[in-house]
Amino acid sequence: MHGAALVEVHDLDFEYPGARALCGVSFTLERGSVTALVGPNGAGKTTLLRCLAGLETPIAGSIRIAGLALADDPRAAHAHLGYLPDHFGLYEDLSVRRCLEYAAYARRVPAAEVTQRIAEVLHAVELDDKLDTRAGGLSRGQRQRIALAQAMIHRPELLLLDEPASGLDPQARSHFAGLVRQLQAAGMTLLVSSHILAELEAYCDRMLVLDGGRIVDQPTATASTQTLRLRLADAGHRSRAADWLATQTGVLTCTAIADDSLRLQVESGDALR
Ligand code: ATP
Repeated sequence: MHGAALVEVHDLDFEYPGARALCGVSFTLERGSVTALVGPNGAGKTTLLRCLAGLETPIAGSIRIAGLALADDPRAAHAHLGYLPDHFGLYEDLSVRRCLEYAAYARRVPAAEVTQRIAEVLHAVELDDKLDTRAGGLSRGQRQRIALAQAMIHRPELLLLDEPASGLDPQARSHFAGLVRQLQAAGMTLLVSSHILAELEAYCDRMLVLDGGRIVDQPTATASTQTLRLRLADAGHRSRAADWLATQTGVLTCTAIADDSLRLQVESGDALR
């Protein structure tokens, strides 16, 4: 399925008893993209994410993840995704190490790789020093990061994050935005929900706007703008390169997404490319 979209959703309908929550929802997510799922309270964001995570069964329509039909092969499709629910839970009495071990075994990470994977995800969320801390003794922002570490312990290609920035203070939000950019730079595809658009604008390439269970808009960066990622041969020149690029005509934003990478939002046009 190389080249195909990582997620393909076609004409999805979902109903709670007596209440239609999703209606004719269709969209695709390209590999390596970061998409904001926005909409007012009750729009259907959580329901859509739960359907994508295989936790709810739509009454009609189809979902394919990495070419696999979720309805036919839920376990195989599930292996490609990580899901951070709105109200995530951690086992408060377990240490961070034990929480992550549990997540690793539940997601069938080979035993010989578990220690390495734990180090890897803790490093990604910058909580290496909390390995032996009790989960219940962490702050809200730290708990959120541990929950995210659990969701990516099996190195999924796709991360579904439900309101990950809610309840975070400005510093934790800014850390989270940086983390999203790093995950994207590492090749992950993300779908991130929020009812506060401004939280997501800083790092999303594209938006899905839900209202009343329907997609009412899906503005993409490719209509009048494009997002380009540049990898620099010499990371030492990153800040000079960024300063220079930011002054060029047609460059709208220039953001560092890793030590050696910049993300540019530019006006569409071959000349600029
Ligand atoms: P929020 O931003 O408030 O989290 P949301 O966009 O995530 O909202 P959903 O939680 O997906 O919205 O809810 C979509 C619709 O489905 C709402 O009208 C809600 O009342 C309804 N709904 C959600 N869960 C249930 C349920 N368990 N039983 C019945 N109706 C439900």
